[in-house]
Amino acid sequence: MKKVHKNIQDWYKTYGRLDLPWRTTTDPYHIYLSEVMLQQTQVKTVLERYYFPFLKKFPTLEALGKSPLDDVLKMWEGLGYYNRAKNLHKTAGMLVVQRQTHGSAPTLPSNIDELIKFPGIGKNTAHAVATFAYKKPVPIMEANVKRILCRVHKLKTPTDKSLWDIAYNMVDKINPFDYNQAMMDIGATICTPKNPQCKVCPLYDICKGKNAPTLYPTKKKRIVPTREENIIISVYNNKLSLTQRTGKFLHALWGFEATEVPLCASEYIGEVTHAYTHFKLICKVYIYDELDKEQAHYFSTSDIQKLAISKVDEKIVKLYLDTMR
Ligand code: SF4
Repeated sequence: MKKVHKNIQDWYKTYGRLDLPWRTTTDPYHIYLSEVMLQQTQVKTVLERYYFPFLKKFPTLEALGKSPLDDVLKMWEGLGYYNRAKNLHKTAGMLVVQRQTHGSAPTLPSNIDELIKFPGIGKNTAHAVATFAYKKPVPIMEANVKRILCRVHKLKTPTDKSLWDIAYNMVDKINPFDYNQAMMDIGATICTPKNPQCKVCPLYDICKGKNAPTLYPTKKKRIVPTREENIIISVYNNKLSLTQRTGKFLHALWGFEATEVPLCASEYIGEVTHAYTHFKLICKVYIYDELDKEQAHYFSTSDIQKLAISKVDEKIVKLYLDTMR
């Protein structure tokens, strides 16, 4: 592996994205934040729209842990998968409480078993924080790395355990930081799902799957179910009714009410759709003029912009404004 490690390190120095802000810092909080944001989101989106504004608003773990959840969700708006933001906030809060007893600033532990105990920190995030923030000689296991490992070892349907075992065997224990960052970059730019560029790959010499790389791993076919909802926009005095969600789905975000059967006096204004990972949501949207009186939680459209709302509710507001034009 020595030669391959050298190839990977050389490749990284020439082609790696060395300047990403979470690669030029040693602050565990910044690295942890980037890992959480990047879990379901592309680098470009995180870099251009979310990472810096979030750190400006919550520059330390302490600032994050002591802020109201609503403020955190507002900064997360549009990024989706809001549980990530809630767990980030919960973890920061737990670290603040833990450290208050020691009188020092809160920070993340470096030990993987301890990291995994915090909400939302899974095995890969714990490994990423350990290796990127604390230079521990451990591997990471995100989607790009998994694909490389499957191809290098000709694995069609590996178990999680077998992948982690292989990853631990392969990791460069002398320079794990560059090795792990390089593996992600190689997966994103060379060992891509379609048309991998094997001839320029630093793992070429040891790769067993290079003759038919796209056979590894076997792709699972996913059938995405559709869910339909009737959404009522209750309007009074040009203000719209929104409530803060209490259920599991989009918990704590503000949104419009869903109803089984639309009120007969309501008017159908159109449909919005939104694709989530596990299902497609179709919302049939109705407006209802509230004649009685303004209830609690009525907001002008400019006030709605200050609330943390989901992408689908944003689309519903847009449909409403387009209809009213
Ligand atoms: S040689 Fe090809 S298949 Fe193997 S890791 Fe490199 S790009 Fe992927």
